[in-house]
Amino acid sequence: METIKVLLEDQEIPRQWYNIQADMPTPMRPPLHPATGKPVGPEDLAPIFPMNLIEQEASTQRWIDIPEEVLDKYLIWRPTPLCRARNFEKLLDAPVKIYYKMEGNSPAGSHKPNTAIPQAYYNKIAGVKHLSTETGAGQWGSALSMACQMFGLGCRVFMVKVSYEQKPYRRMMMNVWGAECIPSPSNLTEAGRNVLAEHPDSPGSLGIAISEAIEDAVSHPHAKYSLGSVLNHVMLHQTIIGLEAQKQMAKIGVCPDVVMGCAGGGSNFAGISLPYVRDRIHGKSEVKIVGAEPTSCPTLTRGPFAYDFGDLAKMTPLLPMYTLGHDYVPAPIHAGGLRYHGMAPIVSHLVKENLVEARAYHQLDTFEAGVMWARSEGFIPAPETDHVIAAVVDEARRAKEEGKEKVILFNWSGHGMVDLASYDAYLTGKLLPYEMPDEEIARALRAISGFPKP
Ligand SMILES: *Cc1c(COP(=O)(O)O)cnc(C)c1O
Repeated sequence: METIKVLLEDQEIPRQWYNIQADMPTPMRPPLHPATGKPVGPEDLAPIFPMNLIEQEASTQRWIDIPEEVLDKYLIWRPTPLCRARNFEKLLDAPVKIYYKMEGNSPAGSHKPNTAIPQAYYNKIAGVKHLSTETGAGQWGSALSMACQMFGLGCRVFMVKVSYEQKPYRRMMMNVWGAECIPSPSNLTEAGRNVLAEHPDSPGSLGIAISEAIEDAVSHPHAKYSLGSVLNHVMLHQTIIGLEAQKQMAKIGVCPDVVMGCAGGGSNFAGISLPYVRDRIHGKSEVKIVGAEPTSCPTLTRGPFAYDFGDLAKMTPLLPMYTLGHDYVPAPIHAGGLRYHGMAPIVSHLVKENLVEARAYHQLDTFEAGVMWARSEGFIPAPETDHVIAAVVDEARRAKEEGKEKVILFNWSGHGMVDLASYDAYLTGKLLPYEMPDEEIARALRAISGFPKP
Protein backbone atom coordinates (compact mmCIF):
# COMPACT_ATOMS: atom_id res chain seq x y z
CA MET A 1 0.00 0.00 0.00
CA GLU A 2 1.27 3.47 -0.83
CA THR A 3 1.62 6.08 1.88
CA ILE A 4 -1.22 8.61 1.76
CA LYS A 5 -0.79 10.34 5.13
CA VAL A 6 2.44 10.95 7.01
CA LEU A 7 1.80 11.58 10.68
CA LEU A 8 4.13 12.71 13.44
CA GLU A 9 3.77 11.61 17.05
CA ASP A 10 3.06 14.37 19.57
CA GLN A 11 6.62 13.96 20.83
CA GLU A 12 7.98 14.69 17.36
CA ILE A 13 6.51 18.21 17.17
CA PRO A 14 9.26 20.79 16.46
CA ARG A 15 10.38 22.54 19.67
CA GLN A 16 11.69 25.69 17.98
CA TRP A 17 10.55 28.11 15.30
CA TYR A 18 12.93 29.00 12.48
CA ASN A 19 13.90 32.67 12.12
CA ILE A 20 15.01 33.41 8.56
CA GLN A 21 16.36 36.80 9.64
CA ALA A 22 19.48 34.87 10.74
CA ASP A 23 20.10 33.61 7.20
CA MET A 24 19.07 36.43 4.85
CA PRO A 25 21.74 36.66 2.13
CA THR A 26 21.41 40.47 2.06
CA PRO A 27 20.17 42.69 4.89
CA MET A 28 16.48 43.61 4.97
CA ARG A 29 15.62 47.32 5.03
CA PRO A 30 14.34 48.45 8.43
CA PRO A 31 10.79 49.73 9.03
CA LEU A 32 10.84 53.54 9.17
CA HIS A 33 9.16 56.06 11.43
CA PRO A 34 6.97 58.12 9.08
CA ALA A 35 7.62 61.42 10.89
CA THR A 36 11.42 61.18 11.17
CA GLY A 37 12.26 58.82 8.31
CA LYS A 38 14.54 56.97 10.77
CA PRO A 39 14.35 53.23 11.57
CA VAL A 40 11.71 52.53 14.23
CA GLY A 41 13.02 51.45 17.62
CA PRO A 42 11.42 49.17 20.20
CA GLU A 43 10.06 52.20 22.09
CA ASP A 44 8.09 53.29 18.98
CA LEU A 45 6.28 49.95 18.93
CA ALA A 46 5.82 49.62 22.71
CA PRO A 47 2.36 51.27 22.79
CA ILE A 48 0.92 48.62 20.49
CA PHE A 49 2.89 45.39 21.10
CA PRO A 50 4.39 43.78 24.23
CA MET A 51 8.19 43.90 24.44
CA ASN A 52 8.65 40.11 24.11
CA LEU A 53 7.00 40.18 20.65
CA ILE A 54 8.88 43.35 19.68
CA GLU A 55 12.10 41.48 20.47
CA GLN A 56 11.02 38.59 18.23
CA GLU A 57 10.16 41.08 15.49
CA ALA A 58 13.77 42.28 15.34
CA SER A 59 15.54 39.08 16.42
CA THR A 60 18.32 37.56 14.31
CA GLN A 61 18.59 34.44 16.47
CA ARG A 62 18.17 31.45 14.12
CA TRP A 63 16.12 29.13 16.35
CA ILE A 64 13.61 30.39 18.91
CA ASP A 65 12.22 28.02 21.55
CA ILE A 66 8.47 27.43 21.46
CA PRO A 67 7.22 27.89 25.04
CA GLU A 68 5.75 24.75 26.69
CA GLU A 69 2.41 26.55 27.22
CA VAL A 70 2.21 27.19 23.47
CA LEU A 71 3.21 23.59 22.58
CA ASP A 72 0.44 22.39 24.91
CA LYS A 73 -2.16 24.24 22.84
CA TYR A 74 -0.54 23.37 19.48
CA LEU A 75 -0.90 19.70 20.44
CA ILE A 76 -4.69 20.00 20.37
CA TRP A 77 -4.43 19.62 16.57
CA ARG A 78 -0.72 19.60 15.66
CA PRO A 79 1.39 18.05 14.22
CA THR A 80 -0.89 18.33 11.18
CA PRO A 81 -0.86 15.50 8.65
CA LEU A 82 1.15 15.65 5.45
CA CYS A 83 -1.13 14.11 2.83
CA ARG A 84 -0.73 12.85 -0.71
CA ALA A 85 -3.48 14.04 -3.08
CA ARG A 86 -3.71 10.88 -5.16
CA ASN A 87 -7.26 11.47 -6.42
CA PHE A 88 -6.41 14.98 -7.53
CA GLU A 89 -3.27 13.66 -9.24
CA LYS A 90 -5.37 11.17 -11.22
CA LEU A 91 -7.72 13.95 -12.30
CA LEU A 92 -4.80 16.08 -13.53
CA ASP A 93 -3.21 13.19 -15.39
CA ALA A 94 0.25 14.78 -15.25
CA PRO A 95 3.65 13.39 -14.13
CA VAL A 96 3.38 14.94 -10.64
CA LYS A 97 3.20 13.72 -7.08
CA ILE A 98 1.27 16.19 -4.94
CA TYR A 99 1.72 16.44 -1.18
CA TYR A 100 -0.02 18.99 1.01
CA LYS A 101 0.11 20.13 4.60
CA MET A 102 -3.41 19.98 6.07
CA GLU A 103 -3.80 23.24 8.02
CA GLY A 104 -7.61 23.16 7.72
CA ASN A 105 -8.09 20.91 10.74
CA SER A 106 -7.25 23.49 13.40
CA PRO A 107 -10.17 24.51 15.65
CA ALA A 108 -10.62 27.78 13.71
CA GLY A 109 -10.21 25.99 10.36
CA SER A 110 -6.98 27.59 9.09
CA HIS A 111 -3.27 28.09 9.82
CA LYS A 112 -4.02 31.31 11.76
CA PRO A 113 -4.09 29.77 15.27
CA ASN A 114 -0.37 28.94 14.77
CA THR A 115 0.36 32.60 15.52
CA ALA A 116 -2.81 33.55 17.46
CA ILE A 117 -1.83 31.16 20.26
CA PRO A 118 1.75 32.40 20.79
CA GLN A 119 0.62 36.02 20.43
CA ALA A 120 -2.02 35.58 23.15
CA TYR A 121 0.54 33.75 25.30
CA TYR A 122 3.28 36.40 25.00
CA ASN A 123 0.77 39.19 25.71
CA LYS A 124 -0.53 37.30 28.73
CA ILE A 125 2.92 36.86 30.32
CA ALA A 126 3.66 40.54 29.62
CA GLY A 127 0.67 41.50 31.79
CA VAL A 128 -1.69 42.51 28.97
CA LYS A 129 -5.42 41.98 29.68
CA HIS A 130 -7.12 42.71 26.33
CA LEU A 131 -6.23 42.42 22.65
CA SER A 132 -7.75 44.43 19.83
CA THR A 133 -7.52 43.38 16.23
CA GLU A 134 -9.20 43.69 12.84
CA THR A 135 -10.57 41.01 10.57
CA GLY A 136 -11.83 40.90 6.99
CA ALA A 137 -13.83 37.75 6.36
CA GLY A 138 -13.32 36.73 10.00
CA GLN A 139 -10.65 34.01 9.89
CA TRP A 140 -8.10 35.97 11.88
CA GLY A 141 -10.70 37.38 14.28
CA SER A 142 -12.00 33.92 15.07
CA ALA A 143 -8.50 32.46 15.57
CA LEU A 144 -7.49 35.25 17.94
CA SER A 145 -10.81 35.02 19.83
CA MET A 146 -10.11 31.35 20.52
CA ALA A 147 -6.51 31.99 21.57
CA CYS A 148 -7.49 34.86 23.90
CA GLN A 149 -10.10 32.63 25.52
CA MET A 150 -7.48 29.92 26.08
CA PHE A 151 -5.16 32.35 27.89
CA GLY A 152 -7.84 34.35 29.74
CA LEU A 153 -7.54 37.59 27.73
CA GLY A 154 -10.38 39.83 26.57
CA CYS A 155 -10.64 40.23 22.80
CA ARG A 156 -12.24 42.93 20.66
CA VAL A 157 -12.41 42.41 16.91
CA PHE A 158 -13.19 45.16 14.38
CA MET A 159 -14.74 43.36 11.43
CA VAL A 160 -15.11 45.01 8.00
CA LYS A 161 -18.80 45.98 7.95
CA VAL A 162 -19.77 44.36 4.65
CA SER A 163 -18.36 41.04 5.83
CA TYR A 164 -19.99 41.46 9.24
CA GLU A 165 -23.33 41.74 7.47
CA GLN A 166 -22.79 39.21 4.68
CA LYS A 167 -20.79 36.57 6.57
CA PRO A 168 -22.36 36.18 10.00
CA TYR A 169 -20.96 32.75 10.85
CA ARG A 170 -17.41 33.75 11.76
CA ARG A 171 -18.80 36.57 13.90
CA MET A 172 -20.80 33.87 15.69
CA MET A 173 -17.65 31.78 16.14
CA MET A 174 -15.96 34.80 17.75
CA ASN A 175 -18.91 35.19 20.11
CA VAL A 176 -18.83 31.50 21.04
CA TRP A 177 -15.15 31.94 21.92
CA GLY A 178 -16.10 34.90 24.12
CA ALA A 179 -14.91 37.83 22.01
CA GLU A 180 -16.64 41.08 21.14
CA CYS A 181 -17.06 41.64 17.38
CA ILE A 182 -17.80 45.16 16.15
CA PRO A 183 -18.68 46.19 12.59
CA SER A 184 -16.13 48.68 11.26
CA PRO A 185 -16.29 51.66 10.72
CA SER A 186 -17.72 52.07 14.23
CA ASN A 187 -18.32 55.08 16.45
CA LEU A 188 -16.03 53.63 19.14
CA THR A 189 -12.94 55.28 17.63
CA GLU A 190 -12.04 58.60 16.10
CA ALA A 191 -10.83 56.85 12.95
CA GLY A 192 -14.24 55.18 12.62
CA ARG A 193 -16.20 58.35 13.45
CA ASN A 194 -14.26 60.31 10.81
CA VAL A 195 -15.14 57.81 8.11
CA LEU A 196 -18.79 57.67 9.20
CA ALA A 197 -19.07 61.48 9.19
CA GLU A 198 -18.08 61.53 5.52
CA HIS A 199 -19.58 58.20 4.41
CA PRO A 200 -22.36 57.08 6.78
CA ASP A 201 -22.93 54.00 4.60
CA SER A 202 -19.26 53.03 4.29
CA PRO A 203 -18.92 49.24 3.79
CA GLY A 204 -15.58 49.44 5.62
CA SER A 205 -12.19 48.10 4.57
CA LEU A 206 -9.30 46.24 6.13
CA GLY A 207 -7.31 49.50 6.25
CA ILE A 208 -10.03 51.30 8.25
CA ALA A 209 -10.46 48.32 10.59
CA ILE A 210 -6.70 48.20 11.31
CA SER A 211 -6.74 51.91 12.18
CA GLU A 212 -9.68 51.36 14.55
CA ALA A 213 -8.07 48.37 16.26
CA ILE A 214 -4.76 50.20 16.81
CA GLU A 215 -6.52 53.28 18.16
CA ASP A 216 -8.65 51.12 20.46
CA ALA A 217 -5.55 49.34 21.81
CA VAL A 218 -3.48 52.48 22.46
CA SER A 219 -6.36 54.29 24.16
CA HIS A 220 -7.06 51.57 26.75
CA PRO A 221 -4.75 50.65 29.62
CA HIS A 222 -3.51 47.02 29.61
CA ALA A 223 -4.67 46.60 26.02
CA LYS A 224 -2.46 45.83 23.01
CA TYR A 225 -2.95 45.28 19.32
CA SER A 226 -2.44 42.04 17.43
CA LEU A 227 -1.86 41.42 13.72
CA GLY A 228 -2.46 38.08 12.01
CA SER A 229 -0.01 38.35 9.09
CA VAL A 230 2.68 40.56 7.50
CA LEU A 231 4.98 41.06 10.53
CA ASN A 232 8.22 39.15 11.09
CA HIS A 233 7.08 37.48 14.32
CA VAL A 234 3.97 36.14 12.55
CA MET A 235 6.12 34.58 9.80
CA LEU A 236 8.31 33.09 12.55
CA HIS A 237 5.39 31.38 14.34
CA GLN A 238 4.07 29.94 11.08
CA THR A 239 7.37 28.13 10.32
CA ILE A 240 6.03 25.27 12.44
CA ILE A 241 4.23 24.22 9.21
CA GLY A 242 7.35 23.88 7.06
CA LEU A 243 9.45 22.39 9.86
CA GLU A 244 6.89 19.62 10.39
CA ALA A 245 6.67 19.09 6.62
CA GLN A 246 10.44 18.61 6.38
CA LYS A 247 10.36 15.95 9.10
CA GLN A 248 7.44 14.22 7.38
CA MET A 249 9.02 14.30 3.91
CA ALA A 250 12.25 12.92 5.41
CA LYS A 251 10.28 10.00 6.88
CA ILE A 252 9.20 8.87 3.43
CA GLY A 253 12.48 9.85 1.76
CA VAL A 254 10.91 12.35 -0.65
CA CYS A 255 12.14 15.86 -1.52
CA PRO A 256 9.87 18.43 -3.14
CA ASP A 257 10.87 20.06 -6.44
CA VAL A 258 8.35 22.85 -5.92
CA VAL A 259 6.91 24.32 -2.69
CA MET A 260 3.78 26.47 -3.02
CA GLY A 261 1.40 28.57 -0.94
CA CYS A 262 -1.22 31.27 -1.47
CA ALA A 263 -0.12 34.75 -0.47
CA GLY A 264 -2.34 37.40 1.12
CA GLY A 265 -0.17 39.03 3.77
CA GLY A 266 2.30 36.18 3.28
CA SER A 267 2.09 34.18 6.51
CA ASN A 268 0.93 30.71 5.45
CA PHE A 269 3.20 30.86 2.39
CA ALA A 270 6.15 31.88 4.58
CA GLY A 271 5.17 29.19 7.07
CA ILE A 272 5.54 26.32 4.66
CA SER A 273 8.38 27.74 2.59
CA LEU A 274 10.91 29.49 4.88
CA PRO A 275 12.60 26.26 6.07
CA TYR A 276 12.99 25.35 2.37
CA VAL A 277 14.31 28.82 1.52
CA ARG A 278 16.95 28.17 4.18
CA ASP A 279 18.07 25.05 2.30
CA ARG A 280 18.31 27.08 -0.90
CA ILE A 281 20.32 29.84 0.77
CA HIS A 282 22.77 27.24 2.12
CA GLY A 283 23.08 25.59 -1.30
CA LYS A 284 21.47 22.36 -0.04
CA SER A 285 18.67 22.31 -2.59
CA GLU A 286 17.40 23.95 -5.76
CA VAL A 287 13.75 23.70 -4.76
CA LYS A 288 11.51 26.18 -6.56
CA ILE A 289 9.31 28.25 -4.25
CA VAL A 290 6.14 29.84 -5.61
CA GLY A 291 3.53 32.14 -4.04
CA ALA A 292 0.06 32.43 -5.63
CA GLU A 293 -2.01 35.62 -5.48
CA PRO A 294 -5.21 36.97 -7.14
CA THR A 295 -5.07 39.00 -10.36
CA SER A 296 -7.41 41.45 -8.61
CA CYS A 297 -4.88 42.14 -5.83
CA PRO A 298 -1.56 41.41 -7.59
CA THR A 299 0.84 42.77 -4.97
CA LEU A 300 3.92 40.66 -5.76
CA THR A 301 3.43 40.34 -9.51
CA ARG A 302 2.58 43.97 -10.35
CA GLY A 303 3.22 46.21 -7.34
CA PRO A 304 6.47 48.11 -6.85
CA PHE A 305 8.87 47.27 -4.01
CA ALA A 306 8.59 50.42 -1.89
CA TYR A 307 8.09 51.85 1.55
CA ASP A 308 4.40 52.07 2.39
CA PHE A 309 2.04 52.14 5.34
CA GLY A 310 0.37 48.97 6.55
CA ASP A 311 -2.97 50.75 7.04
CA LEU A 312 -5.18 53.45 5.57
CA ALA A 313 -4.94 55.87 8.51
CA LYS A 314 -1.10 55.75 8.33
CA MET A 315 -0.71 54.62 11.92
CA THR A 316 1.83 51.85 11.25
CA PRO A 317 5.53 52.36 10.49
CA LEU A 318 6.56 52.51 6.83
CA LEU A 319 7.31 48.94 5.79
CA PRO A 320 9.62 47.90 2.93
CA MET A 321 7.40 45.69 0.81
CA TYR A 322 5.68 45.06 -2.49
CA THR A 323 2.54 47.19 -2.32
CA LEU A 324 -0.45 48.42 -4.31
CA GLY A 325 -0.68 51.55 -2.12
CA HIS A 326 -2.16 51.78 1.37
CA ASP A 327 -5.48 53.11 -0.03
CA TYR A 328 -5.97 50.17 -2.42
CA VAL A 329 -9.32 48.39 -2.14
CA PRO A 330 -9.88 45.39 -4.47
CA ALA A 331 -12.94 45.54 -6.72
CA PRO A 332 -16.11 44.30 -4.97
CA ILE A 333 -16.43 41.59 -7.62
CA HIS A 334 -13.41 39.84 -6.12
CA ALA A 335 -14.64 36.94 -3.96
CA GLY A 336 -11.52 34.99 -3.10
CA GLY A 337 -9.96 36.86 -0.18
CA LEU A 338 -6.20 37.70 -0.16
CA ARG A 339 -7.19 41.38 -0.32
CA TYR A 340 -4.34 43.00 1.60
CA HIS A 341 -2.60 45.82 -0.33
CA GLY A 342 0.92 44.92 0.88
CA MET A 343 3.02 41.82 1.50
CA ALA A 344 5.14 40.69 4.43
CA PRO A 345 8.57 42.42 4.30
CA ILE A 346 10.23 38.98 4.71
CA VAL A 347 8.39 37.53 1.71
CA SER A 348 8.92 40.75 -0.27
CA HIS A 349 12.66 40.66 0.39
CA LEU A 350 12.92 37.04 -0.75
CA VAL A 351 11.03 37.83 -3.97
CA LYS A 352 13.35 40.75 -4.60
CA GLU A 353 16.37 38.47 -4.05
CA ASN A 354 14.90 35.94 -6.54
CA LEU A 355 14.78 33.20 -3.92
CA VAL A 356 11.00 33.06 -4.25
CA GLU A 357 8.71 33.70 -7.23
CA ALA A 358 5.08 34.76 -7.53
CA ARG A 359 2.23 34.06 -9.95
CA ALA A 360 -1.25 35.58 -10.15
CA TYR A 361 -4.49 33.70 -10.92
CA HIS A 362 -7.96 34.82 -12.08
CA GLN A 363 -10.82 34.17 -9.71
CA LEU A 364 -12.71 31.89 -12.09
CA ASP A 365 -9.59 29.70 -12.39
CA THR A 366 -9.15 29.59 -8.63
CA PHE A 367 -12.73 28.53 -7.94
CA GLU A 368 -12.56 26.01 -10.77
CA ALA A 369 -9.46 24.51 -9.15
CA GLY A 370 -11.15 24.50 -5.72
CA VAL A 371 -14.20 22.69 -7.08
CA MET A 372 -11.95 20.14 -8.85
CA TRP A 373 -10.26 19.55 -5.51
CA ALA A 374 -13.55 19.16 -3.63
CA ARG A 375 -14.85 16.75 -6.26
CA SER A 376 -11.74 14.54 -6.08
CA GLU A 377 -10.27 14.86 -2.57
CA GLY A 378 -13.55 15.75 -0.84
CA PHE A 379 -12.42 18.58 1.42
CA ILE A 380 -13.80 22.00 0.42
CA PRO A 381 -10.91 24.50 0.47
CA ALA A 382 -11.13 28.13 1.57
CA PRO A 383 -11.34 30.51 -1.44
CA GLU A 384 -7.85 31.73 -0.45
CA THR A 385 -6.53 28.17 -0.60
CA ASP A 386 -8.06 27.83 -4.10
CA HIS A 387 -5.30 30.16 -5.34
CA VAL A 388 -2.54 27.74 -4.46
CA ILE A 389 -4.58 24.86 -5.86
CA ALA A 390 -4.83 26.81 -9.16
CA ALA A 391 -1.04 27.20 -9.02
CA VAL A 392 -0.66 23.44 -8.49
CA VAL A 393 -2.88 22.77 -11.55
CA ASP A 394 -0.71 25.19 -13.53
CA GLU A 395 2.51 23.53 -12.33
CA ALA A 396 1.15 20.09 -13.24
CA ARG A 397 0.32 21.33 -16.74
CA ARG A 398 3.88 22.68 -17.08
CA ALA A 399 5.29 19.33 -15.94
CA LYS A 400 3.22 17.55 -18.57
CA GLU A 401 4.40 19.93 -21.30
CA GLU A 402 8.03 19.57 -20.25
CA GLY A 403 7.65 15.79 -19.89
CA LYS A 404 9.33 16.07 -16.46
CA GLU A 405 8.36 14.32 -13.24
CA LYS A 406 7.86 16.63 -10.30
CA VAL A 407 7.09 16.44 -6.61
CA ILE A 408 4.91 19.34 -5.47
CA LEU A 409 4.41 20.29 -1.83
CA PHE A 410 1.83 22.92 -0.96
CA ASN A 411 0.09 24.40 2.05
CA TRP A 412 -3.64 23.66 2.30
CA SER A 413 -4.20 26.80 4.37
CA GLY A 414 -7.82 26.31 5.43
CA HIS A 415 -11.26 24.88 4.77
CA GLY A 416 -14.15 26.69 3.10
CA MET A 417 -17.09 25.44 5.15
CA VAL A 418 -17.86 29.00 6.28
CA ASP A 419 -17.31 30.43 2.79
CA LEU A 420 -19.90 28.50 0.86
CA ALA A 421 -21.64 31.67 -0.36
CA SER A 422 -18.59 32.40 -2.55
CA TYR A 423 -18.82 28.90 -4.07
CA ASP A 424 -22.53 29.47 -4.61
CA ALA A 425 -21.77 32.70 -6.49
CA TYR A 426 -19.23 30.81 -8.63
CA LEU A 427 -21.52 27.84 -9.34
CA THR A 428 -24.45 30.08 -10.31
CA GLY A 429 -22.33 32.12 -12.74
CA LYS A 430 -22.27 35.32 -10.69
CA LEU A 431 -18.48 35.67 -10.62
CA LEU A 432 -16.72 37.46 -13.44
CA PRO A 433 -13.09 37.31 -14.49
CA TYR A 434 -11.30 40.37 -13.17
CA GLU A 435 -7.82 41.78 -13.50
CA MET A 436 -6.56 44.94 -11.84
CA PRO A 437 -6.48 47.63 -14.58
CA ASP A 438 -3.24 49.50 -15.36
CA GLU A 439 -4.73 52.83 -14.19
CA GLU A 440 -5.01 51.27 -10.73
CA ILE A 441 -1.26 50.58 -10.70
CA ALA A 442 -0.65 54.22 -11.57
CA ARG A 443 -2.92 55.23 -8.70
CA ALA A 444 -1.03 52.88 -6.37
CA LEU A 445 2.23 54.54 -7.34
CA ARG A 446 0.77 57.97 -6.61
CA ALA A 447 -0.26 56.83 -3.11
CA ILE A 448 3.37 56.16 -2.20
CA SER A 449 5.12 58.90 -4.16
CA GLY A 450 7.20 61.06 -1.88
CA PHE A 451 7.86 58.24 0.58
CA PRO A 452 11.49 57.18 1.21
CA LYS A 453 12.75 54.65 -1.35
CA PRO A 454 14.07 51.30 -0.15
C1 LIG B 1 -5.96 34.44 6.18
C2 LIG B 1 -5.86 33.32 5.25
C3 LIG B 1 -4.96 33.34 4.15
C4 LIG B 1 -4.13 34.53 3.79
O1 LIG B 1 -3.27 35.04 4.76
P1 LIG B 1 -1.71 34.84 4.71
O2 LIG B 1 -1.19 35.70 5.82
O3 LIG B 1 -1.22 35.25 3.37
O4 LIG B 1 -1.47 33.40 4.99
C5 LIG B 1 -4.89 32.21 3.36
N1 LIG B 1 -5.65 31.13 3.58
C6 LIG B 1 -6.52 31.08 4.60
C7 LIG B 1 -7.35 29.85 4.78
C8 LIG B 1 -6.65 32.16 5.48
O5 LIG B 1 -7.50 32.09 6.51
